Amino acid sequence: MLYAILSDIHSNLEAFEAVLQELQKEEIDRFIFLGDIVGYGPNPNECIELTHQYADVSLAGNHDWAALGMLDINYFNPYARQATLWTRDNLTQNNLGYLQKLPLTKQTGNLYLVHASPYQPDNWHYLDNLYEAKINFEYFATQICLLGHSHVPMIFVQEGTKHKQHPDNKIIIGEKKRYIINVGSIGQPRDGNPDAAYALYNTDTNFFEIRRVKYNIRLTQDKMNRAKLPSFLTDRLSLGQ
Ligand code: ZN
Repeated sequence: MLYAILSDIHSNLEAFEAVLQELQKEEIDRFIFLGDIVGYGPNPNECIELTHQYADVSLAGNHDWAALGMLDINYFNPYARQATLWTRDNLTQNNLGYLQKLPLTKQTGNLYLVHASPYQPDNWHYLDNLYEAKINFEYFATQICLLGHSHVPMIFVQEGTKHKQHPDNKIIIGEKKRYIINVGSIGQPRDGNPDAAYALYNTDTNFFEIRRVKYNIRLTQDKMNRAKLPSFLTDRLSLGQ
């Protein structure tokens, strides 16, 4: 079985389409989406419709909840808040309905799927260091937990009582080990690399890989400028920060 795992698209259609085009070269059996389809970017409706078309599993992220008014956006920074209000004004009823139906977590095969963290998935904690990873291994029962939210790809490994962070973005899944893997962000990477991030997991070879693909950032930025989305959000796409 070959899984494609996609997260944090954030209404960035150019990045999303570039990833889908790369995935055309593979024989994907199941498409998993880990949430934050919307927020930040200029194409929320198109991104929801494409997700709907491809997803075998699709989860809710905090920005999806924010667009639905299910989350207090006062704790968002002013840029995210402005983008959320813009998104609310621009989403169709149908697409709001799609977001409303998304679950917070899902278990399938040896995978536990969540947007932010297994511990209190509706509190949107950031799982971005070994200390947090260690705690979170206690809060799911499967071998592998896949998540997004921080927009920084990371792989944590549990072996017996030992925990470590894997030094790169590909790994062979070992039978006796457990994993928490952040697959990074398609629409707004923050690890210093502006290319869209997504993951492939082959359960026959046990190979898990986070890949990157370039996309037309300028086009997304032009659309954001035309939509009068905050320039802070536009600029950060070029930096991958
Ligand atoms: Zn996000």
